[in-house]
Order: sequence, then structure tokens, then C-alpha cells
Amino acid sequence: MGELCVRSVLVTGANRGIGLGFVQHFLRMPKPPQWIFATCRDPKGQRAQELQNLASKHPNIIIIPLEVANPTSIKAAAAKVGEHLGGSGLNLLINNAGMAKPKMLDDETLEDMTEVYTTNTIGPLLMGQAFLPLLKKAAQGSPGSGLSCSKAAIVNMSSYAGSIEDVYVWEFGQVVSYRCSKAALNMLTKCQSLAYKEHGILCVTFHPGWVQTDMGGGGSFKPPLTVDDSVQGMLKVLSSISEKDTGTFLDWEGKILPW
Ligand code: NDP
Repeated sequence: MGELCVRSVLVTGANRGIGLGFVQHFLRMPKPPQWIFATCRDPKGQRAQELQNLASKHPNIIIIPLEVANPTSIKAAAAKVGEHLGGSGLNLLINNAGMAKPKMLDDETLEDMTEVYTTNTIGPLLMGQAFLPLLKKAAQGSPGSGLSCSKAAIVNMSSYAGSIEDVYVWEFGQVVSYRCSKAALNMLTKCQSLAYKEHGILCVTFHPGWVQTDMGGGGSFKPPLTVDDSVQGMLKVLSSISEKDTGTFLDWEGKILPW
């Protein structure tokens, strides 16, 4: 297994939950990235306090405001990241930000379906487009042939709840808008993998496990996985995947999941 070694990474929704976990784990690596772009929609707000504290101790964390449902915000973030990177590219884009509305099928509305799809599916699409030049630059600047996450990669945080074959945890909640948005995110990942392969960019979609976060732990049942275990598992998988894995749907242990 190779070692995940990135000079630059960007995480969306980095102020809490799994996103914050990624930032913490990148800091603990033997060779931490030179730039950790930790993006969140309200950097000065209460919900970003922990991230702010972390950034005050680690100068390689750069907090960038980013609302993934807003194309103008995405473009502004891409420009800022480009300025920080100077001439170099972005190795790893982790589209982690996401939302869920706990609705039953009969209660779903145009507004909820639209909001969830815009955040969970269109956000990662626009992020991929806006950061493509920087990802391409990273791929071109990395030695060796073949795809890898140390070179250039897009990681989309999906969910097993979006699996059409398994319809994971249906009995715990129908969450139709969420399931549809993640099934579509999986298709987006496959499309990105096909289109971006020629640019040297690996693309995967992940189920992080059922994780103890605000989203994962909303109900009466305590999720089985801690953020630490989930993120550690995903980073291990990211360090080991290569060209043959682009366009796949994996869980935090590296198992291939059914679409
Ligand atoms: P949390 O609810 O704990 O955190 C969600 C993060 O996404 C927050 O940082 C939130 O920011 C951010 N976010 C939401 N909407 C937007 C937006 N429009 N623009 C920018 N940021 C936004 O979720 P988790 O950490 O649990 O989930 C992370 C990812 O993992 C999600 O994509 C989720 O679907 C996926 N996942 C999680 C599972 C779990 O068990 N936890 C299971 C399967 C998948 P803010 O603080 O501003 O609200």
C-alpha cells in the first residue's frame, strides 16, 4: 500500500462532523499537507469555533468561506485557493458538505427536493468544474504515470442510503430527497471519472459508514462508528487506490458497494 502524500487538500463542510475529522487527521499525518483548505459557509460563526481554534495553532490550515449551493461563492473560493497555491495545483478535493431532510415519501416537497439536490449533487458538480484547472495542474506536476490520490483526485462523500440495489437503512428513515441526491452524486462521480481520467484525475464516491455526527446521530440510535474511525479508514483507502478504482463506490473500509 502506498502512502497518501498530498501537498494540498480542500475539504468542504470542514467546520464539524466528518469534514472537521479530515482536517484533524491531515494535521496528524507524518508529513502533513502544506495547504489544508478548510472551507465552511460561516467561518466566523459559533459552529466554526473548533476549526478556528485549530487554525490558530496550525498555519497550514487556511479557512475559506464556501457555500456549496452558491456558484458565486464557489468561484470566489477557487480564485482564493489559486492565489494561495501560487503556481502549484490542488491534489485532493473532498466534497464532504451535505445535508439531509428527514421526510417521508408522502411529505417530500419541491423545495426540499431542490435544496437537498442543489447541496448534495449540484454542489460537487460545480466544485469539480471550478477546481478542475487546479486539479489538472497538480496532475501535470506529479511524476509517474497512472492515477492516485497523492497526484490528483476528487472524493465525493456519498452514502449507502443512495444505493438503489440495497436501499440501506430504509426502516430507519425514508429520507427520499437525501437518497435521490446521493444516487445522483454516485452517477456524477462515474461521469467525472470518465471525463477527468484523461486529465490524470482519480474520482471516487464514498460511504463513510454510519458515523456519530450531527447528521448521523440525529435519531434515537447511536451510530456504530466514531468520526476518527471513519476518517482513518477512508484515508487508508485513499492511500491504496489507483487507476483501476476510479469511478467506484467504496465504503470506509475499501469494500465496493452496489450502486
Ligand atoms: P454534519 O451534518 O455533521 O455536517 C455537515 C457539514 O456540511 C457541515 O459542515 C455543514 O455546514 C456543511 N454544509 C451543509 N450544507 C452546506 C452548504 N450548502 N454549503 C457548505 N457547507 C454545507 O454531517 P456529517 O459530517 O455526518 O456528513 C458529512 C458527509 O458525509 C455528508 O455529505 C453526508 O451526507 C455524508 N454521510 C454521513 C453519514 C453519517 O452517518 N454521518 C452517513 C453517510 C454519508 P454548517 O455547519 O454551516 O451547517
